[in-house]
Amino acid sequence: MLLARDYRTGQPIEVHIKGDRIAAVAYPDAAPADLPFVAPGLIDVQINGYGGLDFDSDKMSPDRWAATVKMQLARGVTTFLPTFCTNSREGFIASLTRYRQVVADPMLSHVMPGVHIEGPYISSEDGPRGAHNRAYTRNPSIEEFDAITQAAGGRVTILTLAPEREGAVPFIRELARRGVIVSIAHTDASREQIEAAVAAGARFSTHLGNGGHVNINRHRNYLYDQLADDRLWASVIPDSHHVPRALFNIILRTKGLDRVVLVSDASGLAGLAPGVYGHCEILPSGRLQLVATPAIMAGSSIALDFGVGKAVQMAGLTLAEAIDLASAQPAKLVGLADRGRLDVGAVADLILFKWDAANCTMAVQETYVQGRKV
Ligand SMILES: [Zn+2]
Repeated sequence: MLLARDYRTGQPIEVHIKGDRIAAVAYPDAAPADLPFVAPGLIDVQINGYGGLDFDSDKMSPDRWAATVKMQLARGVTTFLPTFCTNSREGFIASLTRYRQVVADPMLSHVMPGVHIEGPYISSEDGPRGAHNRAYTRNPSIEEFDAITQAAGGRVTILTLAPEREGAVPFIRELARRGVIVSIAHTDASREQIEAAVAAGARFSTHLGNGGHVNINRHRNYLYDQLADDRLWASVIPDSHHVPRALFNIILRTKGLDRVVLVSDASGLAGLAPGVYGHCEILPSGRLQLVATPAIMAGSSIALDFGVGKAVQMAGLTLAEAIDLASAQPAKLVGLADRGRLDVGAVADLILFKWDAANCTMAVQETYVQGRKV
């Protein structure tokens, strides 16, 4: 039994666990004052690596995968989708084959139930393509997607693409039919192209506000077209560098809290100290950018628990609202109906943490996966 404070109300709560599930909850009248909060574990649908390695690195041995998972669990992230960026066909197949081998372990399979493929069917243009390798950007191909899916053991949950690529509409229609979440980003699409993508089944915008031109038309642009379409959910990177406070608030208010998810978009360099690492640099502020073109960011340097705190700080959300954006919401998006909830019957993926309200920071103390302390 866990005795803590309910993240939704601050009231003392007893969480009774049986097997891998929450079996009962009770609300005692009295409890010690210094109890930590309890909440569902965080769920990150976009994370490229952590602590020095990208998931698509050929150095990603099973031991290193396990070590990366451990670092995420320590930050309170109990489910995440390893994200694989624009690469050659062989590169995708090699990294996804490594993923498939790693998730032969049932616990790792639970923590990483699927993958997010970001690219390669994105814009080739400077600006929209962000830090993705132009040489590997290309038009969608179902035949290639099948090979990628097969390497991943059928576990492709999200695919992010640019709707203006030739052949995108039938490609989106086919992926939607198969239950893959098609997401829009790294795009220079017109209103008509976004409209056609949504009509074909696209239902998500990846890191809205990023992966675009530095300057855009003040009235006609792909940012407004996605913001204004209620059929699209959106993810946003709340590290305070990827979107300024005003845009963060605009995304939350136009979409509503029931259509937004927070993601870390952590680079493999996330979690490391400021400094230059190859062609990337982490500034003391935490901003992670390309050395040659500092206006282009290359993922974030955060884990999602940090983003929850920043979301409270930037938008004046309650702690419960911010946590739901990083747990209940992504669970709903990807169809993990028994995760992201502190309710009887839900999977006991739980975190105990201290909340520093003055500085808006979470300090995770204990993490439980499927009812077991890890
Ligand atoms: Zn991206």
